[in-house]
Amino acid sequence: MNDTLARQLPAFIVDRVDFGIFAVDADMKLLLWNRFMQFHSGRKAEEVIVRNLFECFPDLPRKWLEKKFKGVFLLKNFSFTSWEQRPYLLRFGHDRPVTGGTEFMHQDCTFMPLIGASGEVEAVCVTLFDVTDTSLMHRELERAMAALKESANRDGLTGVFNRRHLEERLAEEFARYKRYGDRFSFLLFDLDRFKSVNDRYGHLAGDAVLREAAARVSACVRKMDVFGRYGGEEFALLLPATDLPSALIVAEKVRRLIGEQPIDWEGRPIAVTASVGVNTVRPDIPSYEALIGEADRALYDAKEQGRNRSVVFKPEPG
Ligand code: GH3
Ligand code: MG
Ligand code: MG
Repeated sequence: MNDTLARQLPAFIVDRVDFGIFAVDADMKLLLWNRFMQFHSGRKAEEVIVRNLFECFPDLPRKWLEKKFKGVFLLKNFSFTSWEQRPYLLRFGHDRPVTGGTEFMHQDCTFMPLIGASGEVEAVCVTLFDVTDTSLMHRELERAMAALKESANRDGLTGVFNRRHLEERLAEEFARYKRYGDRFSFLLFDLDRFKSVNDRYGHLAGDAVLREAAARVSACVRKMDVFGRYGGEEFALLLPATDLPSALIVAEKVRRLIGEQPIDWEGRPIAVTASVGVNTVRPDIPSYEALIGEADRALYDAKEQGRNRSVVFKPEPG
């Protein structure tokens, strides 16, 4: 390789690499603007070199960037920013499909001090990497993880929360009650004589009834309530910030929602009712499991008393 070529090589590489390189001096004057920067900004090097960076690009986050440069000038340290902190420095488009969900090129940047003969930082060189693909993949992964987590909490037949999630939330709510005294109530309800629905109309009809019953209740609970399928034809409703009288009102509402209108299955009306066990926290309940046990006892009493009713758990006096 001849000398001239060897001397030109670094500048050639800086110009042709597939990432952005630019440099500014202490007055924020642009000293270098490579081909990547030209292509994505639409501004030629001749247009911007020795001009002030912020005058050329008024959209830049000036305050933040000045602080960043100042740090490098003073401390003579490298600095790095990731798209996770700030998605991009310069607003460049990208050539990925718009369905990806990010409109602009995501960028990782490094800020390098260029130290002169005086030993002081004379300029800062910035490299800018297009990390749009990484960030899109990251976003996809997060979305998939969230969906997976969500589906692990759901009941396959009805789509409402499953027992695992109910118990998890109940345990949390119980701990909060023990610690801060935040009261809550708990309803356990069970469809009445459901076996006969299956026997009479078939298992598929039974499934449809479970789905519809769940949908009716879901549609009327508050956002903070946790409604789920506890077992076969048994559902539970956790009611944060709810005292006993209010819980009983909710229990009756749920019972009526299920029982008042027969459920339509392939044009046939199927009448079902529900019995509800109602319980609320008290200082002497030792665990959330005990709280469920008491709600279950109240539910049993509701069945004993003739079904299609709500019964509140009554602790033994003393
Ligand atoms: P009770 O009023 O005492 O609750 O009577 P029951 O018939 O509802 O109670 P039992 O526990 O004897 O029967 C529950 C029935 O629920 C039996 C079971 O086949 C049915 N079941 C449980 N899970 C499902 C399901 O996912 N789909 C359908 N179709 N039926 C189910
Ligand atoms: Mg039942
Ligand atoms: Mg049952």
